[in-house]
Amino acid sequence: MLSVTILGNNSAIPAFERHPTSQVLQNNEQSFLIDCGEGTQMQMMRYKIKPSRINNIFISHLHGDHYFGLIGHLTSMGLLGRKNPITLYAPESLQAIIELQLKVADAHLPYPLHFHSLDNEGILYEDKSITVRCFKVYHRIPCWGFLFTEKRNPRRIDIDKVKEYDIPVSFYDSLQGGMDFLTADNRMIENELLTVEGVHAKSYAYCADTIYNEEIAERVKGADVLYHESTYLDDLHERAASRFHCTSREAARIAKKAGVKRLLLGHFSSKYEQLEAFLAEACPIFENTELAIEGTTFLV
Ligand SMILES: [Zn+2]
Ligand SMILES: [Zn+2]
Repeated sequence: MLSVTILGNNSAIPAFERHPTSQVLQNNEQSFLIDCGEGTQMQMMRYKIKPSRINNIFISHLHGDHYFGLIGHLTSMGLLGRKNPITLYAPESLQAIIELQLKVADAHLPYPLHFHSLDNEGILYEDKSITVRCFKVYHRIPCWGFLFTEKRNPRRIDIDKVKEYDIPVSFYDSLQGGMDFLTADNRMIENELLTVEGVHAKSYAYCADTIYNEEIAERVKGADVLYHESTYLDDLHERAASRFHCTSREAARIAKKAGVKRLLLGHFSSKYEQLEAFLAEACPIFENTELAIEGTTFLV
């Protein structure tokens, strides 16, 4: 099961009880922190996210609204006696920033902190259950999107059928691997007869700060859930472009073009107190749109 909890959905500065950008993607194994704006630790406490489960942190770019909470999180983990390593996937300069912050405080983390700089598109992380890739988005400074894809589940054994055909338990692993079964009297029983399709592997695409660019639709094609920034409403589309941001309609156009199943809008400008207009503008273009409201957990 894959889910994402929104911890911060605002751009630039905190406003109207909204926090700068941060979210946590969780599967059964662990949690992945995506951006870490100011206030992220407090939001984790508020929404019962266990920081100890976070082994991998992905920072899209080095505007403060995406990482000013990071040093706090890293040092708190140290004060709480964490031993497990944390890997930080971020633009290269972040390593020097973090190391300087630790150095001037004469702080020493009791756990290994690994840096992985974002240089090229491709796979960043992989384990038996999930693959994480990064892709370029188009912002004023280098900025990255992230695509989380569950590993395809193997076919599931149909218990009634394996009993009916008297398949030995020792052959179950082979069945899940796709093999057909040869009986003692040389009859071939096809795999499809004994197994059912595994659960569809879900994917979540995180599209951080970016100007409207249809190349992004190619990179997130078919995702189950796309989070796309939507800093402004449509009347400010010129301002959005001049600041390398998007409007709600532009985010909806990307979702439609990419053929995703669901769109989450976030990274709202602090000039807006009410957010309903973002939905009103996006839904006529892409119906299955929701606001990435803080504290909400969306099942992918
Ligand atoms: Zn931002
Ligand atoms: Zn930015």
